Amino acid sequence: MTSGGDAPGMNAAVRAAALVAMANGIEVVGIRRGYKGLLENDLVTLAPGDVLAVLREGGTMLGSARCKAFHQRDVRDRARAVLHQAGVDQLVVIGGNGSLTGAVRLTDADELGEGALRVAGIPASIDNDIAYTGLSIGVDTAMNTIVEALDKIADTATAHDRTFIVEVMGRDCGYLSMTAAVAGGADGVLYPEAGKDVHSIVDRIVDTVLAKRSRPGRSRRAIFVKAEGVHLPIDQLKREVDARLAAASGEELTETETRVTVLGHVVRGGRPSAFDRLLGSRLANVAVRALMAGRTRVMAAWMPPVDIDPAIGTRTEADPYCWLVELPAALAETDRLIAGQGGLAQWRAHVFDDLEAVFLL
Ligand code: ADP
Repeated sequence: MTSGGDAPGMNAAVRAAALVAMANGIEVVGIRRGYKGLLENDLVTLAPGDVLAVLREGGTMLGSARCKAFHQRDVRDRARAVLHQAGVDQLVVIGGNGSLTGAVRLTDADELGEGALRVAGIPASIDNDIAYTGLSIGVDTAMNTIVEALDKIADTATAHDRTFIVEVMGRDCGYLSMTAAVAGGADGVLYPEAGKDVHSIVDRIVDTVLAKRSRPGRSRRAIFVKAEGVHLPIDQLKREVDARLAAASGEELTETETRVTVLGHVVRGGRPSAFDRLLGSRLANVAVRALMAGRTRVMAAWMPPVDIDPAIGTRTEADPYCWLVELPAALAETDRLIAGQGGLAQWRAHVFDDLEAVFLL
């Protein structure tokens, strides 16, 4: 099943999960449209020919959906009945933290009883907001899409000495905006973890633009990447920046007017990068092998071969870069990450403090 926000590379995971299972004599069904499709018994038996060619396609061949009703116990009972009826006893859920939470609830001991259903999760979300995995499926492709867009915007911005603010997706996580800003050579990045108020955000942009314009013979263009998680409407930001710049420079607004580009869902689409195909394939391989070995409520995760508490996660023998992390522990840590707690969140909040001067050069 793929569920929640789609991410490029989900198909690679569907394909690898199906192929690894089939090669081990397991009958495979795909569930269309996430938990919504599951409740509607929208199951399809898969053969190798159904999945072989999907590797290079964006989106997900199984479709995806959101299903609010899945928060209710009686609805999850119905879902378990559909799976039982279809003879499904092992489920791979490919999705973001919401979908993985659904997978945990589906197999909670007090709801499942003695049931045979087992689940493995695969993190797929362009936001990279899932803990205990270095990357989720889709992040790399999304970052490449943003960087390509920034490159194009840089051409026109440079030609006209313009200032651009480019808004990118990422929900409440600034990861995509931060990495794309560095990789795309932006002049500044506005991301939620920094916790800055409107005034300091506007100050930061205006200071940078004025600094760039004051240097004769150098490019006067300035590009800022804004994460959607910074809850400041981009048009309001543009107006405030323009007003301040006009006042500071005394130039006509037409000469200095800031341009905004909202990349929106473009960032979610497109052919998956080689890395996302690889990541989806490798995570799915270990997820299916974990189920075959009798494991349940684990998430396949991508981490270098480091030492972490074995109670939380263990490196797989099949692939030293792939880990099996206890799914409830991963979701609890994800909540902390999104709430800005823990070492990684703290680092993200302050990583650009030291770099601000570098950006201004
Ligand atoms: P994502 O998986 O991309 O994070 P969502 O947060 O929208 O996307 O979650 C996808 C779906 O997972 C939801 O529509 C719902 O069906 C299910 N889900 C999310 N949170 C829960 C929860 N706490 N309990 C049960 N199901 C949930």
